[in-house]
Amino acid sequence: MQDFTFQNGTKIIFGKDQEQVVGQETVVYGKKVLLHFGGGSIKESGLYDRVVQSLQEQGVEIFELGGVKPNPRVSLVREGVTLCKENRIDLILAVGGGSVIDSAKAIAIGVNYDGDVWDFFTGNASVADCLPIGVVLTIPAAGSESSAGSVITNEEGAYKRAVGHETMRPKFAILNPVLTYTLPSYQTACGITDMMAHILERYFTNEKHVDLTDRLCEATLKTIINNAHTVLEEPTNYHARAEIMWAGTLAHNDLLNTGRIGDWGSHDIEHEISGIYDLAHGAGLAIIFPAWMKYVYKHDVNRFAQFANRVWDVEIDLNDLEKTALAGIKKTEEFFSSIGMPVTLKEANIDDEHFEEMARKGTERGPLGNFVKLQETDVYNIYQLAK
Ligand code: NAP
Ligand code: FE
Repeated sequence: MQDFTFQNGTKIIFGKDQEQVVGQETVVYGKKVLLHFGGGSIKESGLYDRVVQSLQEQGVEIFELGGVKPNPRVSLVREGVTLCKENRIDLILAVGGGSVIDSAKAIAIGVNYDGDVWDFFTGNASVADCLPIGVVLTIPAAGSESSAGSVITNEEGAYKRAVGHETMRPKFAILNPVLTYTLPSYQTACGITDMMAHILERYFTNEKHVDLTDRLCEATLKTIINNAHTVLEEPTNYHARAEIMWAGTLAHNDLLNTGRIGDWGSHDIEHEISGIYDLAHGAGLAIIFPAWMKYVYKHDVNRFAQFANRVWDVEIDLNDLEKTALAGIKKTEEFFSSIGMPVTLKEANIDDEHFEEMARKGTERGPLGNFVKLQETDVYNIYQLAK
C-alpha cells in the first residue's frame, strides 16, 4: 500500500427534503450567489422554486446563469466568469448534475485569474484558488459533488479536457434521492455506468497489498449492480435510489483511491468520443471500458479473475484463470447492455472516421493510463476493439 493523505472536506447533507437547508448552508459563504443550472429539468420539477425560496429566506441576492449543456462548454464558463467578476459573487450554487457542477467549478477557478479560463485545461495555468461552490445534486453519476475535478469541452477543436485541484471540492452537497425520480431511464443508466467506471478506474491498479480498498470497491460495485435494475423498473423506489445516489458519491470522493494509483485511461479515451460526438459520458464508458479490459487483461490476469469472482460471482477456475478473467469482462459488458447502454461504437452510430484523430489528440500530452501505459497505437486499437 502506498502512503497517502485522504482529506475530503465536502459536507454531505443526505435525505428527503434536504434542499430546504440550501439557504442556510449558502449564507455561511456570503450573500451573493450565482445560481447555475442546466437546460430546464429543475424548473419542470419545481426544484428551482424551492431553492430560490430557501435562498431568499436567508436574504441571499441571486444572480442566475442557466443553460449548461451535458458535456459543458467553455463558452458558457467564460460568461459565468465575467458575471462573477462584475458582481463580486461569494458562492456558486450548482443545481444539477456533473455538467452543471463542472461548469461551476470552471467558473470558480476562473474568477481570480486574469487570463482565459481554458488555460487551466491545457496546463498553461495552475489552479491557485477557487470560489466556494455549493451543490444540489439531481443525478447520481459523475461524483463531481465531492470530487476535485472538472471536465469541460472547448467547442473550438472539440477538445474535452479535465483539471483538478483540492480547492475545487464543493463546500457542501445536498443529496436528496427523491430528486432523482424524474430522471429518464437512459440518464439513470448513464449515471450508473459512470459511477461503476469511477470504481473500475481505481480497481485496476498495479499496487499490491491493497485488500481493504479492493474490498471497499467491490462492495460499492455490488451495491450499484444490485440496485440498478430496481431503479430502472421502479424509478420512485426511495431505498434503491438512495443506495445508488450514495454509491455515486463514494465512487469518486477518493476514499476508494487510498493506497493506490488508479488508471483513468478509459476516461481519457472516452473524453475524445464525447468531445467530438457529444455522446453522454456514461454511454461512452459502457463502450470503452469493456474494450479496454479486453485489451489489457493479460497484464494482470489474477486481478481480473479476482474481479470476476468477487464482483460477478464467477467461479474461479484455478487451471484456467484467463477463462475466469474473460468471464468477468463478459459479465461487465452484458450488464451495461442489460441497463440499456450501447456497448459498441456502432450502437452509438459512431464509425471509424475519427479513430486516428482521437488517438492522436488523446495522447498528445503523453501516454494514457497507469495500469498499462497506452500509446497512440494502443488507443487506436482500443477504438477498433470497441467498433
Ligand atoms: P449531466 O450531463 O449533468 O446531465 C445529463 C442530463 O440529465 C441533462 O440533460 C439534465 O437535464 C438531465 N437531468 C439531470 N438531473 C435530472 C433530473 N433529476 N430529472 C430529469 N432530468 C435530469 O449528467 P452527469 O452524468 O452528472 O454529468 C456528465 C458530465 O460530468 C460529463 O461531462 C462528464 O465528463 C463529467 N464528469 C465529471 C467528473 C468530475 O469529477 N468532475 C467525473 C465524471 C464525469 P437539464 O440540463 O435539463 O437539467
Ligand atoms: Fe466519469
